[in-house]
Amino acid sequence: MPDDCLFCRIVRGEIPAKIVAETEQCIAFRDIDPKAPVHVLVIPREHVDSLDTTNDAMMIGRMALLGAEVARTEGIAESGYRTVINTNAASGQTVFHIHLHVLGGRRMGWPPG
Ligand code: AMP
Ligand code: ZN
Repeated sequence: MPDDCLFCRIVRGEIPAKIVAETEQCIAFRDIDPKAPVHVLVIPREHVDSLDTTNDAMMIGRMALLGAEVARTEGIAESGYRTVINTNAASGQTVFHIHLHVLGGRRMGWPPG
């Protein structure tokens, strides 16, 4: 596990984060620079660089289902929300510890920018 990975450091409690949900395998915390009224990141505790470097279907499924649970507890499930996993440079991935964005509380445009 990379010692200097930002999200691994959040998992280890070395960097503060506003945690909204935790399971044995994943944590969910508020994005530091929110792009919507609700913007939560769901990550596995285990380090994985990106969607391009995993075949762990259980982990991806757990992230998606925790994202859905967070959307319900944040009150955006009924109105609607977006889940996004940016992968590699062209998508805008900046943190190379896989994460699922959960965005909601406003109308989302489509296609995304
Ligand atoms: P991405 O561009 O898909 O890699 O998303 C990385 C996200 O991590 C961005 O939305 C950042 O605002 C967010 N972020 C960066 N540093 C932190 C931090 N210390 N705590 C919470 N979110 C962060
Ligand atoms: Zn990491």
